[in-house]
Amino acid sequence: MYIILLGAPGSGKGTQSKFITKKYKIPQISTGDILRENIKKNNNIGKKIFNILNNGDLVSDDIVCRLVYKRIKQDDCSKGFLLDGFPRTIQQAKYISYLGIKINFVLEFIVPDELILKRISGRRIHIKSGRTYHVYFNPPKKQGVDDITQEKLTIREDDKLESVKKRLKNYKKEINQLNQYYLKEQKNQNLKFFKIDGTTTPKNIQNKIKIILKNNKN
Ligand code: ADP
Ligand code: AMP
Repeated sequence: MYIILLGAPGSGKGTQSKFITKKYKIPQISTGDILRENIKKNNNIGKKIFNILNNGDLVSDDIVCRLVYKRIKQDDCSKGFLLDGFPRTIQQAKYISYLGIKINFVLEFIVPDELILKRISGRRIHIKSGRTYHVYFNPPKKQGVDDITQEKLTIREDDKLESVKKRLKNYKKEINQLNQYYLKEQKNQNLKFFKIDGTTTPKNIQNKIKIILKNNKN
């Protein structure tokens, strides 16, 4: 199964990825997580992109596509994967087609800006695993620590208000073109494109996704 999750920053892609990848036994490829890993390692790519992420700008298509290519060539991706946060531009979407990958589902989460801002202001993450929590909406079992490893949770550097506003603006600039692209792909290929109301509870959204994926198998 090959799945793409679209949605503004804070719309719940990472949260829903965890359940989808577990249920369908496919790896989650979050370009945000991969980029943050490079920053943490402070390698050449990390040094180049540090300011870009902090400012809420998009990393170049060239860098992101190369990182995705490297990741999907690994063995665990041979039977499918879930892309979270990629594609973000039309060039990235075309790159997936260029690689000959046949996407089965594109799911886009729809969440209004006010709610996005509330979600992001309370987001806490476990960097190593990419697990995401929210201080009110989705709290960890024990305050401030990851449920599985008991390691400390942190606030993302780019979850500051100014950076979030920029990320939302960037998202809106690109999403219409991506929508058009996948509506067209839906006609030409077996791909199915769904927009999902992302404002309800994580469990409710999870159930909606389960039904969509179950009822639309090829
Ligand atoms: P994205 O990966 O799209 O940036 P996340 O999955 O990290 O978004 O979610 C952003 C924040 O909102 C996190 O703190 C998460 O715990 C919380 N969250 C995710 N889905 C929901 C939801 N359906 N209702 C309330 N809070 C949510
Ligand atoms: P995310 O974790 O998906 O919210 O991504 C965090 C940040 O990483 C974004 O604000 C961008 O700076 C960068 N990023 C992640 N994915 C991409 C992508 N596909 N293209 C360009 N930049 C990206």
